[in-house]
Amino acid sequence: MNAPAPKISFVSLGCPKALVDSERILTHLRAEGYELARRHDGADVVIVNTCGFLDSAKAESLQAIGDAMAENGRVIVTGCMGAQPEEIREKYPNLLAVTGPQAYESVVAAVHEAVPPAHDPFLDLVPPQGVKLTPRHYAYLKISEGCNNRCTFCIIPQLRGDLVSRPAGDVLREAEKLVKAGVRELLVVSQDTSAYGIDTRYAASPWRDREVRARFYDLAAALGELGAWVRLHYVYPYPHVDEVIPLMAEGRILPYLDMPLQHASTAVLRRMRRPGNQEKMLERIRAWRATCPDLAIRSTFIVGFPGETEAEFEELLAWLKEARLERVGCFQYEPVRGAPANALGEAVPDAVKAERQRRFMEAQAAISLRLQKAKVGKRLPVIIDEAGPTLARGRSKYDAPEIDGSVHVAFRRPVRVGDIVTVKIERADTYDLHGTAV
Ligand code: SF4
Repeated sequence: MNAPAPKISFVSLGCPKALVDSERILTHLRAEGYELARRHDGADVVIVNTCGFLDSAKAESLQAIGDAMAENGRVIVTGCMGAQPEEIREKYPNLLAVTGPQAYESVVAAVHEAVPPAHDPFLDLVPPQGVKLTPRHYAYLKISEGCNNRCTFCIIPQLRGDLVSRPAGDVLREAEKLVKAGVRELLVVSQDTSAYGIDTRYAASPWRDREVRARFYDLAAALGELGAWVRLHYVYPYPHVDEVIPLMAEGRILPYLDMPLQHASTAVLRRMRRPGNQEKMLERIRAWRATCPDLAIRSTFIVGFPGETEAEFEELLAWLKEARLERVGCFQYEPVRGAPANALGEAVPDAVKAERQRRFMEAQAAISLRLQKAKVGKRLPVIIDEAGPTLARGRSKYDAPEIDGSVHVAFRRPVRVGDIVTVKIERADTYDLHGTAV
């Protein structure tokens, strides 16, 4: 008789990029015959993939490690926070191992040491798409690690290093495998998606019967051939971003651009060390919309950056009203230990930050409601995320999972998760739409 398969309990914290790391680790371990446990209690070992981006994320990570220690006691820590092991070790000296981000091999080696694999090649077949923590019908596709920018509020380059791009052929093969396994929507992620390939001088690599260069445009165009929805995230506004807009207009990739702009005041952007001319940015957005009228731009902004004055904040508000972006998130600045921004100006009091965030989101809510109402009466393709007996919840091309709005769908003929159905939009809320599948 075979020995029972060793069991791993896994906690994945942090951003979509960390989720991709978790999936890779799990795919590897599953391939070696490990099983996933539902609870810490009774698992042979617990892996905690941590996030160290903000102090609040660190606190959450430390809490998750504490829970795992209390419930199981055999714990391996990995992820962004693992890049600063002293802090974790100080609090939890009895951890089995602490490894940094992207250290798949070290995590796997630590698991081997804690509980050796009991591989049975006839029983342990990894599903072809790997072990997904995201639902089957969409998947995050990570195209590079690290970042060459040095935004003053961010310590990711310190934690993850400079940009390292994956060869285009590798990315495309992974994407093909995912699509073959039933994925209908690919979410392209990295710290800085439009910088893709700069580090390899856009080196070409083989895919199918041709060579594909590791260039933002070339990769987006090739991904557009796979028959899935392709959504671009974390696109830094370099000039060559203009090139992909026609791909969106032609329906080859989704008309969606997630572009964190962070602020609109030139002075604040300079202190953030981000590209600074938001007048030009407005012109570019106008040109993009002329090429691709249904383009949805998503962005995130930071309010209460050190030294932000009321006038600078109002500049941001005025810009937002002018730009009328479709999807917007707003964060209050949180000092991150080790980030140069903390020393750049006087800290904005918490109450002022909260007040600015409220005013910002109020302005955006009015913009969003107007844009959403313009969709009433239209027929939109919607990808189904959850399906009940008579109602389903899905997303239009203009909504990314987890961060944007939903479309609530009534239907007569049954729909399943992952289906892409046409929905007649009947009603709009500030962020969500309601309609009937036709
Ligand atoms: S672009 Fe800026 S915010 Fe984004 S990872 Fe790089 S340094 Fe951090």
